[in-house]
Amino acid sequence: MVDLCYYEVLNISKTSDKTTIKKAYRKMAMKYHPDKNPGDTKAEESFKAVNEAYQVLSDDKKRELYDRYGKEAANQTSGGRGSARGFDDLSSMFENMFKSGFGQRQKPKSYSYELDMMIELQVEFIQAIKGVQKEVSYSYKTPCKSCKATGAKDGKLGRCSSCDGVGEIHTQQGFMTFAQTCPHCQGSGQSATARCSDCGGQGFETKETRFKVDIPAGVNSGNRIRVGGKGNIAPDRSRGDLYISIVVKKDEHYERHDDDIYLEVPVFFTQIALGCVIDVPGLDGTLELKVPPNSKDKEHFVFRGDGVPNVNSHRKGDFIVQLKIVYPKTIDAKQKKLLEELQKSFGIQSKPNEKKFQDILKKAKNWFK
Ligand SMILES: [Zn+2]
Ligand SMILES: [Zn+2]
Repeated sequence: MVDLCYYEVLNISKTSDKTTIKKAYRKMAMKYHPDKNPGDTKAEESFKAVNEAYQVLSDDKKRELYDRYGKEAANQTSGGRGSARGFDDLSSMFENMFKSGFGQRQKPKSYSYELDMMIELQVEFIQAIKGVQKEVSYSYKTPCKSCKATGAKDGKLGRCSSCDGVGEIHTQQGFMTFAQTCPHCQGSGQSATARCSDCGGQGFETKETRFKVDIPAGVNSGNRIRVGGKGNIAPDRSRGDLYISIVVKKDEHYERHDDDIYLEVPVFFTQIALGCVIDVPGLDGTLELKVPPNSKDKEHFVFRGDGVPNVNSHRKGDFIVQLKIVYPKTIDAKQKKLLEELQKSFGIQSKPNEKKFQDILKKAKNWFK
């Protein structure tokens, strides 16, 4: 197949706006849709190309990347479910077509669960920064064999008694009547007269499974990893995707803000007065922190690029040290003497308050006359 550029695939100009792109996509997708071209592999390839082009050109970010750097760049950006957009639009388009054109309802699905599913995965603080391979174990739904996912004994269905086989029920609100899909049969008009004993009438069974997944360096809470084809299974054997939602555990010392790391470093008051060099435990080894004399409490020192690698760009954030000046809780007699000597050695400098207040006190005498 000739590798056409995305604009050529949709037969539009490079300056086309969103509406034009969408229109062009619909036209081309209809033309090459597999339902209209059964067994035509050329049409199938064109259909795929049309979808790929639309996924990129309908997304401002991806389109910009594509215009500047080409196909590879545009398709590399993750952004949740890359392949969903084109097909979602398409299915709603067909649904509309059938609704308006043929007056038919979309065929209700014969099972009661979503195919895509999500699990939560806890990751240790350091594992999230460094990346790790983890084993996930979870359970997914698969259609019950004995009842062919119907939930009915031996798979035998009868007319749904809730909707009398119509598939929808009517509710009255004031003088208006609303039709809604029958919740009992999900619109199929059929329901089980006797429950399947293997699945308790649910139509599915749950299966435990486990596999290893690579958690990339730099993930953070709220990130989702999509694992294709590991979700729930439909009666036609099609399988949804598994989404792994990452939860990163907190650390007692390090604080993470996006790709930056904060660490509080306690420094003794004499170290602050004299200046000092401190070994700070960084993420990739020891960082040498030079604390100049007279640094302030809560002062920040930034190690650029010693933070967390960004999960997408791999560029590292910063490692930020915050000083915490520590004073002795008690002092013994010898230390007291040393401090007094030190105090005395500074002369008038050691009593900045006296110097400052002398002038004020002089003036104050006149205030109360
Ligand atoms: Zn019903
Ligand atoms: Zn069953």
